[in-house]
Amino acid sequence: MPTLTAAPHRVRRLTAALYRFGSARLRRVGVGETHPDWQKRAEICEYCPMRAIRCGVSYCGKPFLQLIDRDPSIDGCGCPCHDKAKSPSEHCPIDRRGQPARHSASDCSCKWCNLRSGQF
Ligand SMILES: [Zn+2]
Repeated sequence: MPTLTAAPHRVRRLTAALYRFGSARLRRVGVGETHPDWQKRAEICEYCPMRAIRCGVSYCGKPFLQLIDRDPSIDGCGCPCHDKAKSPSEHCPIDRRGQPARHSASDCSCKWCNLRSGQF
């Protein structure tokens, strides 16, 4: 059962998910930037063991609203893979070894930021 101390965490996650959803909708009508390598990023998602398919759409783990309290490096983030791959500000939650990706202002260890041809 959720506790009151978990509530701010859930609100922050829901707000981030709403922002991602809104950004994806805007990209679909041509507003906002699309990552130039989004197709490579989405292809990496297709080989990921966290990938889930619902109604013909690939998700990074279970869709967000089916599992709000999650560890993205274990459960995935819950975003549609193609929408997330298109966002220039998004990163894969895991690195090439399946460990949690580390992000800093100047570096990222995620699978997407360490693309190498032919390797997923
Ligand atoms: Zn990254």
